[in-house]
Amino acid sequence: KCATAEDLVKAIKDENVQMIDLRFTDLPGVWQHFSVPPSAVNVDAFNEGIGFDGSSIRGFQEIQESDMLVVADPATAFVDPYSPAKTLVLICNIRDPVTGQSYSRDARYIAQKAETYLKGTGRADTSYFGPEAEFFVFDDVRYGQGINYALHEIDSSEGSWNTARDEEPNLAHKPRPKEGYFPVPPTDSMQALRTEMVLTMEQLGIQIEAHHHEVATGGQNEIDMRFTTLTRMADNLMMYKYVVKNTAHQHGKTATFMPKPLFEDNASGMHVHQSLWKGETNLFYDKGDYAELSELGRYYIGGLLTHAWALCGLCAPTTNSYRRLVPGYEAPINLVYSQRNRSACCRIPMYSPNPRAKRVEFRSPDPSCNPYLAFAAMLMAGLDGIDRRIDPGSPIDKNLYDLPPAEAKEVKSTPGSLDQALDALERDHAFLLRGDVFTADVIEIWLDYKRKKEVDAIRLRPHPYEFHLYYDI
Ligand code: GLN
Ligand code: MG
Ligand code: MG
Ligand code: MG
Repeated sequence: KCATAEDLVKAIKDENVQMIDLRFTDLPGVWQHFSVPPSAVNVDAFNEGIGFDGSSIRGFQEIQESDMLVVADPATAFVDPYSPAKTLVLICNIRDPVTGQSYSRDARYIAQKAETYLKGTGRADTSYFGPEAEFFVFDDVRYGQGINYALHEIDSSEGSWNTARDEEPNLAHKPRPKEGYFPVPPTDSMQALRTEMVLTMEQLGIQIEAHHHEVATGGQNEIDMRFTTLTRMADNLMMYKYVVKNTAHQHGKTATFMPKPLFEDNASGMHVHQSLWKGETNLFYDKGDYAELSELGRYYIGGLLTHAWALCGLCAPTTNSYRRLVPGYEAPINLVYSQRNRSACCRIPMYSPNPRAKRVEFRSPDPSCNPYLAFAAMLMAGLDGIDRRIDPGSPIDKNLYDLPPAEAKEVKSTPGSLDQALDALERDHAFLLRGDVFTADVIEIWLDYKRKKEVDAIRLRPHPYEFHLYYDI
């Protein structure tokens, strides 16, 4: 455990570290890295930052101003479980060498600013986050099963899955679509793999609460981390993805956090549990209120619901996210809250009577988000709800599919596309700019990047399935 650059240098020497791997997150949310041998660094280098070229990093600098510095956070040090040489990994912040300032497009810095902002409001001193990131594991074949499945025409009328899989003599214990939750092995073919992932995560200091197969056919999984503070949880999520992908890779498989790889099966979400604390007190708990959620907790929900569309631009930020947010697959599309209802985007879990366990679960996010930006944005939305005392209205505990049409029409839903979510974020982001947590610059580059590189890249491209539909027209 290191707290300072001095501790780091000492640990590197005492532990005979052979390589130092410096990591940071690009704007879309993928870990980037470069390595330096121990002989190339000293206390000053760690304190002042180590240079790299930021021009080819997605969402970072223009070529003419590309020199950037990484400043390692000593508290994040861990030994890389996948490197043959003893390699110390350090999660870093980004600094601009010219101004000497932290970099406004460094998502980790935004997460840290959100935590500082929370303290500054005096309303709470700590925000806790607990994401449930689901993921798929496929056999590692070129083009991946996911794409093949997506292209098959599936007759979803019950029992007749008209896919290539049906042409096999039997399913060999492979669960049918939406039937993966949660029979024992051999139907759950992922138990050993998940166990190895969990053991590795624990070895890296990440506390795990449970793991299981998910609802989709063979290979949808979930591992649940114990909640922790905002930036630390975003760091943990980057480590989680790294361990999931590398463990699968070592076994000739490939893991993906893309939300919806399979047509007509459940998608991967990332429900995010959150609570605000002052000292040892959970501010979301109040005995006797609806779901034993305090007024402050209700206002927090009011903020999440009010800004839900803009939040989707950061929390469900890929074109593929909107193939998940559709009815019929347990993805929460209704912008309401409830203690039980899983089609509601905000849920107040009732598993435990313990005040410490009281929390709000926001279910719209998926694991394709940049967790630093997504967690920071959710906190800012919740705080706006508290500041403005936004009443989220009445909870909806009825099955939303059974509502009379008139009432059902009143229920707002999540955006239908990334395009709509980004437009919402463009209109509605003043709540993110408070305390300079997000800056106008980062919102602008985010919108520009997502629109040009993702929305247009998909919208303007002939889809393979269009050939099926239209080639003979
Ligand atoms: N996969 C579902 C989603 O997209 C969640 C399923 C569950 O955990 N109940 O949100
Ligand atoms: Mg879960
Ligand atoms: Mg789940
Ligand atoms: Mg959940």
